[in-house]
Amino acid sequence: MKFCSNCGEKVISEIPEGDDRYRFVCPSCRVIHYQNPKMVVGCIAEFNGDILMCRRSIQPRYGKWTLPAGYLENGETLIEGAKRETFEEANATVVDLRPFALFGLSFVNQAYLMFRGHLTKPNFAPGNESLSTGLFKEKDILRMEIAFTVISETLKLYFSDRKKGKFLFHLGEILPE
Ligand SMILES: [Zn+2]
Repeated sequence: MKFCSNCGEKVISEIPEGDDRYRFVCPSCRVIHYQNPKMVVGCIAEFNGDILMCRRSIQPRYGKWTLPAGYLENGETLIEGAKRETFEEANATVVDLRPFALFGLSFVNQAYLMFRGHLTKPNFAPGNESLSTGLFKEKDILRMEIAFTVISETLKLYFSDRKKGKFLFHLGEILPE
């Protein structure tokens, strides 16, 4: 951060009184600009046992496969966010969302909450951030180049739970690749 979003003055980095780490502080209006991790929401959308996957049309990881996911917006519930991302990236309407996995990604200051849900119809088409979208079987997904570790971990847990016939809620931390 370079400039104060409150008054436009150049910010400085300092440890505010009573704090224990550096923050961007405005020397003019004294506003402290805290920076905290961002929340990403997404989902595994299943139809007849197949999983909705999106091939990325944007960087990073252009051309690699992922699950619909993206930043939660202000004023949005977690489920609304996951549904919106599924619609934006795959033009698909997902229902019956249940929380499935929560991952911390401290190395990129993010947390991922992944839901599992269903499509009522096999209707989907690539959105702006996807080259293509499709419903795929586990064996095909295992051969795909997956864009992010958090997504491959989510899929691994999903297939493992599905095999056992029981879905649990998972909590994990993703380490840098
Ligand atoms: Zn200021």
